Amino acid sequence: MKRLGVIGGMSWESTQTYYRLLNEEIKAHCGPLHSAPLLLWNMDFAPIARLQAEGDWAGLTTIMEQAAQGLRAGGAELLIIATNTMHLMADQVATAGAVPLVHIADATGAALREAGVQRPLLLATRFTMEKAFYREHVERVAGCRVAVPEEPHRSRVHDVIYEELVQGQIRDESRTAYLGIIDHYRQEQAIDAVIFGCTEVGLLLNQSSIDQAGLDLPAFDTTAIHCRAAAAAMLASPGD
Ligand code: GLU
Repeated sequence: MKRLGVIGGMSWESTQTYYRLLNEEIKAHCGPLHSAPLLLWNMDFAPIARLQAEGDWAGLTTIMEQAAQGLRAGGAELLIIATNTMHLMADQVATAGAVPLVHIADATGAALREAGVQRPLLLATRFTMEKAFYREHVERVAGCRVAVPEEPHRSRVHDVIYEELVQGQIRDESRTAYLGIIDHYRQEQAIDAVIFGCTEVGLLLNQSSIDQAGLDLPAFDTTAIHCRAAAAAMLASPGD
């Protein structure tokens, strides 16, 4: 099994989920005593969030490249970036790490394509919703057209992530707000799925909350999808 390097801590609330799911995936594939050989590079998220808000993506790229190099030096044979937003510099991270990177938008796009989704709604940070890097990547892999919330929904989705979810605050009123936004785009844009395109959204919503709200839409949680893809890559033999 290949050793996985995880660039996490963005935020640690979702990195906890990554840690659990990666171990559960390996256990499910290999047997009950197995766990995932991995290295975690846990960022201090406050300076990361500040640089994001300032738009210093060059500075952030340098920090991410250093993480990839550190993980490689520690023995990582594969890398993941445990956040959607920071896939903005995925190519530079892969080059700096010089080991294969399991890309979250490849995994998500493949899951959407397999399910035949045509018009998914993307719930994510403002950066992921507005910049082309993620939406276009998913569209290319899945062959679909991604719907992105307009204002004021876009700000609400973003603010709940930064002001609540990454701080470990899970609020009923925010769940209700997210479900209301999903319902709006179901009616206005005939969406046929929802992408939890931020690794913390699964802390607030899941398939049951969508079903209980009577929305009848499949949810694609990028955290779970990414962990499945990473575990498969760890277990793949060279010829796969
Ligand atoms: N974890 C989030 C994501 O998946 C947001 C935090 C970040 O900017 O990394 O995009």
